[in-house]
Amino acid sequence: MSVEKVSVVIVQLRYQYRIALTPGQRIRAARVFGCRRVVWNDALAVQKLRKASNKLLGNPKARLAEGPYQPVPKNAELGKTLITAAKKSAEREFLSDAPVGVMQQTLRDLDGAWKAHEDSKTGNRRGPKVAPPRFKSKKDNRQTARFTRSDRFSVTDGGRLRLPKIGEVRVKWSRDLPSAPSSVTLIKDCSGRYWVSFVVETDPAADMLPPTDRDQGIDLGLDRFAVLADGSQIASPKYLRRAEKKLKKRQRELSRKKKGSSNRDKARIKVARAHAKVADSRRNFHHQWSHKLTRENQAVFTETLNVRGGLARTRLAKSVHDAGWAQFVTFCEYKAIRRGRSSAKVARDFPSSQICSACGYCDGPKPLHIRAWTCANCGTRHDRDWNAGRNVLHEGRRIRAADTTAPPTPGPGASRR
Ligand SMILES: [Zn+2]
Repeated sequence: MSVEKVSVVIVQLRYQYRIALTPGQRIRAARVFGCRRVVWNDALAVQKLRKASNKLLGNPKARLAEGPYQPVPKNAELGKTLITAAKKSAEREFLSDAPVGVMQQTLRDLDGAWKAHEDSKTGNRRGPKVAPPRFKSKKDNRQTARFTRSDRFSVTDGGRLRLPKIGEVRVKWSRDLPSAPSSVTLIKDCSGRYWVSFVVETDPAADMLPPTDRDQGIDLGLDRFAVLADGSQIASPKYLRRAEKKLKKRQRELSRKKKGSSNRDKARIKVARAHAKVADSRRNFHHQWSHKLTRENQAVFTETLNVRGGLARTRLAKSVHDAGWAQFVTFCEYKAIRRGRSSAKVARDFPSSQICSACGYCDGPKPLHIRAWTCANCGTRHDRDWNAGRNVLHEGRRIRAADTTAPPTPGPGASRR
């Protein structure tokens, strides 16, 4: 059994805020999104063509000897032809509606998309396969544009954000930016709301908390969101099911609207809004609890989730989705790193429901409907989820004690039961 550790040190953080655009700013934002899309599509067309023709020429050495091999152009070259020169042509004149930095960033983003695709093919990238970059459509629901330092965006004395080619934008500052941002991404989400997301580099030491001797094991569940090793519970937020009726109604309305009609567009936005609302409240809930748990404990141990497997069992799918465990675990991980605390997942095959957390006796798997049982060895009466939470805690501590590369932890030893 092993612990999957997260070893990234985060120094770049994202801070996202809602913004309000005037009608004029919306039009200008749409133009910036449009320029970005055109540059992306033009560059992708060139790259695809080159890649396809090179592929026909066979192996790299042969094609160099052949002559006609043309390397896929680099960003500098693409920038010259597709941005600088294109602006002077009649059909691409409109590219001057967007800051140059935004369009250059688009080329870098495209590079990133290719790299993700290629790395996932060669196995350099974990997780599911990534498709090659696609052409962007005007109808894509989510639009983004990233302004870099070279674009000279700034925050005015009055607290407005000045974005080149768009104007001074009113921002809902829900929390303070810790330092000057290195870039800002303008986002229009699928429900038509506008956001800005700043990338901020922070000194990781500023968020560090002093060490504590408390650890926590977490059993994530369906009827209760989580049961902790100390016996406390986090009730399950059933936002999704509560909002489901409304969603269903909106969806029915959408399906009745004629395709391509403006009424259908309106209905689609209503559906997206209802979805977004659920996702927002769920995210807040996860932020609150991961914040609290990583603040109060030196280590937070969870089970390794099989989200895909979980979703496959359709009867449970809704609840699994509702609970959004994966997001919660990710939040715990990054908050722990930020604060000098730790988080770890016990192995997927760890039998958290089979072991007695009092004496360690293992009496094999139990069907899901068994919520409580008495240990045949020591006679302790167990709540299934609480017992699992305690086992996750014990297992996490055991692995931490065995891991000689981990920093020493203060307080009671790992064998405390
Ligand atoms: Zn026992």
